[in-house]
Amino acid sequence: MSAVRVSSSVALGSRTTYRVGGSVAHEVVVDAASLDELAGTLASLGAPSIAIGLGSNLLVGDGHHDLTIVRVAVPAGSDDLSWSEADSGVIVEVGAGLGLPVVARRLAAEGIVNFEWAVGIPGSVGGAIAMNAGGHGSSMDAVVIAAQVWRGGLLTWRAASALALGYRTSAIQAGDVVVRVRLALARGNAAAARSRVREIVQWRRENQPGGANAGSVFQNPAGDYAGRLLDAAGCKGLRHGGARVSEKHANFILVDTDGCASDILALMREMRRRVAVEFGVVLRTEHRLIGVGEDEWPAEPAT
Ligand SMILES: Cc1cc2nc3c(=O)[nH]c(=O)nc-3n(C[C@H](O)[C@H](O)[C@H](O)COP(=O)(O)OP(=O)(O)OC[C@H]3O[C@@H](n4cnc5c(N)ncnc54)[C@H](O)[C@@H]3O)c2cc1C
Repeated sequence: MSAVRVSSSVALGSRTTYRVGGSVAHEVVVDAASLDELAGTLASLGAPSIAIGLGSNLLVGDGHHDLTIVRVAVPAGSDDLSWSEADSGVIVEVGAGLGLPVVARRLAAEGIVNFEWAVGIPGSVGGAIAMNAGGHGSSMDAVVIAAQVWRGGLLTWRAASALALGYRTSAIQAGDVVVRVRLALARGNAAAARSRVREIVQWRRENQPGGANAGSVFQNPAGDYAGRLLDAAGCKGLRHGGARVSEKHANFILVDTDGCASDILALMREMRRRVAVEFGVVLRTEHRLIGVGEDEWPAEPAT
């Protein structure tokens, strides 16, 4: 028997990969066996809810927020991953709480290919659906057949077309919880897949900074790269308080241990302002912001 687990006054910011930001009223951890209880639990807590994964694309505003976060648990003692051979290839089913790097390595080791690209993305499978995460020439929309989504008490399998996966967007809304995902992959050579995984990990080490960050801050505008525009606008090394733009990659912000979410937001405003002034391009953030007001992240840059 399983039950939803509820915690109160949860330090959400420190759980994100930025490791800064405020707290939320409640956290609810749910698994397949306790999904029936989720609607009742959320109603009793009262606060608006939002599902989160591994917090690798989240910026949580400083202070306390009257929100409930929902997380999909990874069942103990299992890696929540199964597959079956089909005429078309290999159909993989995976729990939304599992991390992409774990899934990518496990599949490569089994000789199930076409998911190696995901090894360098430190998010969960659920977060990857919500964001249509991608890299190294592929993305979730290339491999997803369907996702099981909880919305307002109803659990349904939605076909890929209904997920409307676009460039870092999807039809997943605040309040939805992606629970399981079905992928269409292929049978291939395990040694070659493991070697591709190693190459990608090596590429990430060489081209992206380590430390507390949440990946690309801004989306690429049509036909260009946010990193190129930010670099050309002189953003590398720019600092505000405990946050600075990486010298290695101008679209990454690194945060010191004494930094805070307001430092990141001030730096983001300045990065966006510089690119708008220099190139007339208004960058859109790739991060999902939680508990951040219009005063800290206005819709338009101040020029
Ligand atoms: C070093 C580094 C490198 C990165 N490289 C890449 C890259 O190459 N490509 C790329 O696309 N991204 C990249 N990212 C960003 C990030 O890893 C992805 O966006 C990832 O998909 C986020 O997954 P998450 O589980 O961490 O989601 P979170 O950050 O927790 O949440 C992100 C969004 O997904 C939603 N969400 C999360 N889980 C669920 C769920 N179960 N149900 C419904 N909604 C959910 C949240 O509400 C939120 O809107 C990188 C991040 C870092 C730190």
